[in-house]
Amino acid sequence: MVGAVYPYGCVWSKPLPRSKLNARLHPEIHRMKLQGSCHCGAVRFAVEAQSPVPYLHCHCSICRKTAGGGGYAINLGADARTLKVRGRRHLRVYHARLREAGRRTRRSPAERHFCGECGSALWLWDPRWPELVHPHASAIDTPLPRPPQIVEAALAYAANWVEIADDARHLRCRTWPAESLADWHRRHGLVGGRRQRTSAARRARLNAPIA
Ligand SMILES: [Zn+2]
Ligand SMILES: [Zn+2]
Repeated sequence: MVGAVYPYGCVWSKPLPRSKLNARLHPEIHRMKLQGSCHCGAVRFAVEAQSPVPYLHCHCSICRKTAGGGGYAINLGADARTLKVRGRRHLRVYHARLREAGRRTRRSPAERHFCGECGSALWLWDPRWPELVHPHASAIDTPLPRPPQIVEAALAYAANWVEIADDARHLRCRTWPAESLADWHRRHGLVGGRRQRTSAARRARLNAPIA
């Protein structure tokens, strides 16, 4: 296969063009307020997202079956403490059954929230990372920034009919990139606003040897 192997088992065919997005040009990306809803309108929600760029396409079977008509779902990263929901009584939660060869079927602790009336997939919340909530881009009504790069993740599980783009904008991963949603945004200069000043005392603390 042509192309450099990116860390984390991903293949990156060509150097990526410089990102046109950055926090100075797009200060709204730093912490975007997102409005979302299901198709029937019974559930509406709002959340502040620190990782609102819809760059991560997950082709795993759970995403495809529960939220991915095109073969994959697009996951965003948001602050769970800011999640406000209207129509909570219409919500249903699915815990995915994890079937792996040679292991007993397990129930994922992650809560996949969807509308019980129309079936729209809305967001994932996981008690192992309670501060985060992952809305599906498909449920968001607020216009989202266009990603400078797409990461095609979990291709080992992709359906054979899905067309995977093979150009410089697409980073292809057999499984998942080790880079978190937040780290991807940081790499693209999208974590933003003003740079945090580190005090001399804090720098000394960070540089101190670990006892
Ligand atoms: Zn609905
Ligand atoms: Zn997935």
